[in-house]
Amino acid sequence: MNITQAKMDGAIKPPESIRLEICTLCQLQCPLCSGPRGKNNSIYGQGYLSFEKFNAFMDKNPYIRRVEVASQGEVFLNNDLPRILESAYQRNITTTINGGANLNHAADEALEALVKFKTEVVRCAIDGATQETYATYRVGGKLKNVIENIQKINTYKEEYQSSKPDLIFQFIVFSHNEYEIDRAIVLAKMLKMKFTFRLNKISDFMPVKNRDRLRKAFGYADREEYLEKLQKSYIRDACLTLWNLPQINWDGKLLGCPCNRWGFYEENVFNGNLATCLNNERMRYARQMLMGKKPPRDDIFCMKCSGYRSIKEYDNWITEAEIRTHRPFKNE
Ligand code: SF4
Ligand code: SF4
Repeated sequence: MNITQAKMDGAIKPPESIRLEICTLCQLQCPLCSGPRGKNNSIYGQGYLSFEKFNAFMDKNPYIRRVEVASQGEVFLNNDLPRILESAYQRNITTTINGGANLNHAADEALEALVKFKTEVVRCAIDGATQETYATYRVGGKLKNVIENIQKINTYKEEYQSSKPDLIFQFIVFSHNEYEIDRAIVLAKMLKMKFTFRLNKISDFMPVKNRDRLRKAFGYADREEYLEKLQKSYIRDACLTLWNLPQINWDGKLLGCPCNRWGFYEENVFNGNLATCLNNERMRYARQMLMGKKPPRDDIFCMKCSGYRSIKEYDNWITEAEIRTHRPFKNE
């Protein structure tokens, strides 16, 4: 198949980058969890990828150069994480934990492995600067543990004289925590983390009261405003991962993108050929559908997603240029 043909029919080349979720276990109970703890999200199951399976997968797909290992669960609950990071490092594969972690419980060995094996980034979900506020959303979480774990990573960074991993302090803004934004920014600085906002995915759940403040800081007070102003969905980047960072669940299910919680495109990519799985008929159709080259079809999971609905509503289809310039690993 030549490149022109690949572009025409929605196929992609064997990907250099993938998101392979290595753990969907989690110890917290966040009310809006989009992962395995969330309602109706049973597609992910609760489990983890073993070191042996990670290695076997990488042996079979040597063209992979970057792996995002986190998505819906808590990656630090996979006890094989240090060995997985080490194996990736030895294979010259860059690892990232940009999909997020809560960092409530992490073995010292895992924290050291992040530094020793040069994981590029760790995004930590911290939505408060005090225990009470933090645990209002991160139910069951202990801010003290998170801070201690971040401090340990910083100590290892000093010990190894390494700038990696970059640490991101991600703050989802709600009504219960907006008054702590300034304190959270200071806390992030103290922890040598880059502070970043994220808009709540359900705007009327604990809605932000000081909307102007958010507009000033971020440009938009909620995801609806973002959509209206930019005429594109807040989760549009997730669509681009169908091309640039296809998502695989810990048990081998091909999900395509991190927002798909409705079904899988292939039952187990570990048993088959990844490149072939990624170009099966439905995956190719989904890509073409998002580019407006094919009409909606009921067996494509995007049909159930607000991302596709907004693309269609605003007639704002995914473009070749977006796919080409998309940087799925940007650390914001
Ligand atoms: S930390 Fe993440 S995976 Fe765990 S319950 Fe909260 S949102 Fe879900
Ligand atoms: S429209 Fe499809 S590819 Fe885009 S975020 Fe939704 S499920 Fe994912």
